[in-house]
Amino acid sequence: MTTMTHSNPSPTTSQSAGAALPQNEVIRLSQVWKTYRMGDQDVNALAGVDLSIERGSFWAISGSSGSGKSTMLNLLGCLDRPSKGTYLLEGRDIAQTSDDELSDIRLKYLGFVFQNFHLIPQLTVEENIALPLFYQGIEGADASNKARELAERVGLGERLGHRPTELSGGQQQRVAIARALSNDPSVLLADEPTGNLDTATGDSIMALLCELHNQGKTIMMVTHEPDISAYAQYAMVMRDGKVESISENPPHPSRGGKHA
Ligand code: ADP
Ligand code: MG
Repeated sequence: MTTMTHSNPSPTTSQSAGAALPQNEVIRLSQVWKTYRMGDQDVNALAGVDLSIERGSFWAISGSSGSGKSTMLNLLGCLDRPSKGTYLLEGRDIAQTSDDELSDIRLKYLGFVFQNFHLIPQLTVEENIALPLFYQGIEGADASNKARELAERVGLGERLGHRPTELSGGQQQRVAIARALSNDPSVLLADEPTGNLDTATGDSIMALLCELHNQGKTIMMVTHEPDISAYAQYAMVMRDGKVESISENPPHPSRGGKHA
């Protein structure tokens, strides 16, 4: 592994609200802090993170418990705002947005995949996949066609009418991935996506994520498993709310593109 120092964002493009990012850069964090008040103590869950994410890159974030991984993913996912610093996503300054704007940004730019799938048990595969479309006002044949297309893309074209309980864990995660893709997000965020799956099923989910990466999707994944981290292009390790290291992984058989 080659350890790299990650680039410091240039101050000329990171300071003003709504500052533009170069087209190939989807995310930029500049001196991002997230501070929680615990009684009379401040806990810095993120402590001055600088990070630049290239469009189409695939990242694994790891680090010991309490190092700030979830805080980082919540922040990247616009579920939260920085206490201090700048987060630019597709050139939009996330610290400066209202709650309503934040939820629009999530719908438009982000897809989420969780360890526990988070599917809606009452809805069919097709309806689960189409849910983000519904929230964007896309319904009827358009939503249905898109959901079918995505179900096929994740290998579940024959399961459209099934409910989550009628599917295996791996199939449920495929549905969740299809749902996360339905708004064609700029960034796919995955929190321990294989955490509830056996090794073989986990590997098949990782092969699917690699395929999406090979097709150009930007992916940020939290994992504590080195075997899973190895699928990503870049391994980021967090410690005490800081990015401790970033290293480029060696080629992986599932990963194509420039790192094949
Ligand atoms: P990880 O996901 O790597 O285990 P977290 O991001 O959950 O780490 O937490 C980082 C630090 O921030 C920990 O010290 C944790 O206790 C603290 N923390 C996280 N969320 C909160 C919160 N809502 N309130 C107070 N402290 C929090
Ligand atoms: Mg966590």
